[in-house]
Amino acid sequence: MLQGLRLMLLDAFLDFFFPTRCFVCRKETVPTEKICKTCSSNIKYISSPICIQCGIPFLSKIGRDHLCGACLTSKLYFSKARAVGYYEGVLQEAIHQFKYNKKTFLAKHLGALMINYEFDPFDFKSYDFIVPIPLHFKRLRERGFNQALSLAGYVGKRYDTPVDFTSLRRIRWEGPQINLGKIARERNVKGAFALYNKNRFTDKDVLLIDDVYTSGATVNECAKVLKKAGVASVDVFTLSRAV
Ligand SMILES: [Zn+2]
Ligand SMILES: [Zn+2]
Repeated sequence: MLQGLRLMLLDAFLDFFFPTRCFVCRKETVPTEKICKTCSSNIKYISSPICIQCGIPFLSKIGRDHLCGACLTSKLYFSKARAVGYYEGVLQEAIHQFKYNKKTFLAKHLGALMINYEFDPFDFKSYDFIVPIPLHFKRLRERGFNQALSLAGYVGKRYDTPVDFTSLRRIRWEGPQINLGKIARERNVKGAFALYNKNRFTDKDVLLIDDVYTSGATVNECAKVLKKAGVASVDVFTLSRAV
């Protein structure tokens, strides 16, 4: 009781002298909101028309969802990729804070965006495994956590779907892909992943989770490794999408 009162007083003291600030716009906000209401409402969500396979939103907002030119001509190993919002503005800043500035508590808020995704929802319970895109151990050591695993953890917990984060591994890492074009990205990730415990994946349905979908090279390479190991189907769900 006394302990609880002490904690309440401590909270009030901290709020008074160190008010919580929104991690995106830095304006004062209530302690429960790490991202303020204004910033949350400024997240640009992805909507139709999109490519039915890779999920890229089309620039023209007229017409129905259809297959994009890239999906028509390239070999994709996943059936459907969807993202919650555009990788820009508020969402980009929040992901940046989460990933590079180690604001790991943002995972809860970002995970909630994935859990509450309504535009073209996944039947999360239908997957045998949720698999986060793995980081190479060198990268993991540097960052201290895998952002994709944090997000996958929230989705898995909410829908009671097992998260397997040990079987798919990144065995090679050539450095950041940030400034590379599509072809270079594909080359960069070729042979970079390996699947262990293959037996448990035979004929299973897998949902890959990551924070950002950029060219799709990484998720496609992971989907390829899974499919070649006998996985029945692979879908992809990311928090954001660069277009
Ligand atoms: Zn804000
Ligand atoms: Zn497409």
